Amino acid sequence: MEASAVRREHTALLVVDIQPDFLPGGALAVAGGDEILAPIRDLLGRGGFEVCVATQDWHPRGHISFASSHPGHQPFDVIELYGHEQVLWPDHCVQGTPGAALHEALPREPFALIVRKGADPLTDSYSTFRNNWNPRGERPALGLAGYLRERGITDVYLCGLARDYCVKWSGEDAAAAGFRVTVLWDLTRPVDPRSDADVRRDLERAGVHIDDSGGLR
Ligand SMILES: [Zn+2]
Repeated sequence: MEASAVRREHTALLVVDIQPDFLPGGALAVAGGDEILAPIRDLLGRGGFEVCVATQDWHPRGHISFASSHPGHQPFDVIELYGHEQVLWPDHCVQGTPGAALHEALPREPFALIVRKGADPLTDSYSTFRNNWNPRGERPALGLAGYLRERGITDVYLCGLARDYCVKWSGEDAAAAGFRVTVLWDLTRPVDPRSDADVRRDLERAGVHIDDSGGLR
């Protein structure tokens, strides 16, 4: 029998955007993203969390965040959209395509919930808790904070992709929603490794704890 971690009461693990498009060979590949697959699978297998949630970036074709939707622009250009910076991405995680699937390396059974985000054609969504700003200047909630609260969750642990976008924004929003938040740094990888110091600073300012998964054992 495998050794399993002590069950942590009132804790949730959020596994952010482990999708083929974000892994090496994918449309918006994050370097080293494949290195975190096995450790996340092992963490899920140990079963220490009360609730496990997976998220999927889930865009309609022609999404506003795609460079291809903005003639004259290239992927990774930054534009102003509704008064805020928006990075223009290669087409990625298009609904129903293989690149948007939950990666086959992850088991399905541990997940109580799968949250799909970025489905509004006019609004991006890095965070698992709220969309980015919409044309009305709002960041509509995705319902996850309410779900976790109803499940009695007080502590949220985050891993997945990418460290400097969807994990960071999810961590900040989770803290703003009143959860105690830990980012499992070794189980994330960034789009831009040069962002690491800023990401750490922003998360710590938001009250997010940064730890390594080894600290869970
Ligand atoms: Zn996206």
